[in-house]
Amino acid sequence: MPISCTDQTTTISPNSTCYPVANPLESFWQTETHPLSDHRSTSELPLETDIVIIGAGFAGISTAHHLVKEFKGELGTTPRPLPSITILEARAACSGATGRNGGHLRPDFYGHIPKYIERSGPRAGAEIAEFEIANLRALKKFIEEENIDCDLTLTRSIDVWCNKQAAENAKAIYDSMRAHKFDYMDDVIFYTGDKAEGICGVKGAVACASFSAGTLWPFKLVMHLLHKLLESKSVNLQTHTPVQSVRSDEAGGFFVDTPRGQVHTRKVIYANNAYVAGTLPEYAKNIIPCKGICCRIAVPDGIRPPLLNNSYINRTIDHTLSYLVPRSDGSIVVGGAAAKFKPFREQWYDNVDDSCLIDAAAEYYYNYMQRTYRGWEDTGAKVDTIWTGVMGYSYDSNPHIGQVPSKEGQFIIAGFNGHGMPVIWLAAQELASMVSRGVSFEETKIPRLFKTSAQRINRAKLGREEDGDIIGSGNLPTTNP
Ligand SMILES: Cc1cc2nc3c(=O)[nH]c(=O)nc-3n(C[C@H](O)[C@H](O)[C@H](O)COP(=O)(O)OP(=O)(O)OC[C@H]3O[C@@H](n4cnc5c(N)ncnc54)[C@H](O)[C@@H]3O)c2cc1C
Repeated sequence: MPISCTDQTTTISPNSTCYPVANPLESFWQTETHPLSDHRSTSELPLETDIVIIGAGFAGISTAHHLVKEFKGELGTTPRPLPSITILEARAACSGATGRNGGHLRPDFYGHIPKYIERSGPRAGAEIAEFEIANLRALKKFIEEENIDCDLTLTRSIDVWCNKQAAENAKAIYDSMRAHKFDYMDDVIFYTGDKAEGICGVKGAVACASFSAGTLWPFKLVMHLLHKLLESKSVNLQTHTPVQSVRSDEAGGFFVDTPRGQVHTRKVIYANNAYVAGTLPEYAKNIIPCKGICCRIAVPDGIRPPLLNNSYINRTIDHTLSYLVPRSDGSIVVGGAAAKFKPFREQWYDNVDDSCLIDAAAEYYYNYMQRTYRGWEDTGAKVDTIWTGVMGYSYDSNPHIGQVPSKEGQFIIAGFNGHGMPVIWLAAQELASMVSRGVSFEETKIPRLFKTSAQRINRAKLGREEDGDIIGSGNLPTTNP
């Protein structure tokens, strides 16, 4: 069984608390070992490289993928000689949030959008929803074209409310989103009253809504991309090589320091998400490492529980949110339960320890299917793997993407909260055009609220924790896929 946080944890870096720990719990997605997990392209670090990418999760590997395409002329660009790209990863490849998440590829159609509309106007809010929907479509197309074995499904994702007041609030949000006449709202349907439980199958549901989304096995997708990059000799991957610091030289380049030596480069891309403050301290108040919990539930051999055709976000009567993805093998991946652990701040907030569970929620998913879904009562469904992961929660709920303010040649793609899967693919493509061709943020298709800026950095630096979205404004630190 997974260990509790009172046991010993091994840290990678003695200098900072914002580094991955060395001994993460194994997630279900990683139970099949991969030959590239601990790969090093060369036994020594290259002394010189054109571009360093810090972090081999979905963001780092997608950025490398799109950089190579940019230079090969495959994105409508003029072909140019490939630069040397080195990826430095603190632990095994894809061992961070991407290898430990819920597998939901779920655009946010209307959940958080009102918050962004209120802050920055309807277009800024709609841009985010439209970008996420475009991500889902682009990834589906790419996965099909490349024939990638990563269990991609297109599904309806069902939001469920069991609390009457919460359901009324959600309906009001839905109505206000429809009043804006955003085209994409045509794909959403909302049910209230007696019908809800029969439509979603969740006991006690008083409302539900559904729209198009996807599910997948993120580890397999990222390892496929990595395999292709290594096969084509386009990148040098160095796992178990934590970046400790990045220092400017006098000629506009950088020395990137690791315990295995230093690499000199012209450009640095920070794709280390929750841990970005370990290498870019100015983000310490902006992107906070916050733990989440996830598990896989399976039924005994020979039992056939009622089929779940959709993915879910379930909210109980006491506002505990869970995201749920059914798998073709009959098992279920489910996580969340933040309401159960939010009061125990030290267990999740500013906490990088994914070597242990979150004690306050460790048992929440025992009997989850039996108590939640009609017809699952006698299935014997039980948790067979449970793990934690670390998300980069941002002060204003949006990721930070673009050139690091006042640091020419340094770029960031981090702070994806519990919601990176429907954002990262196209964000990485656009970032690659900024890095390789000097395209400005404004010329890209990335939603304007995702631009990293001195103003956003300072707002978090100077603001109180309670004024930010992580602790304040009643927003739970949910993984909100
Ligand atoms: C339990 C859980 C459930 C989730 N569920 C979903 C979901 O269903 N849908 C969804 O959209 N999102 C979900 N998320 C969020 C999603 O997983 C992330 O937004 C996404 O994976 C972020 O990708 P990334 O590449 O930016 O970060 P990561 O995958 O965390 O990659 C960052 C990498 O940087 C490395 N690194 C860190 N510091 C250094 C350093 N100093 N030097 C070198 N390397 C370093 C890390 O080891 C890591 O491999 C979930 C997250 C968790 C934890």
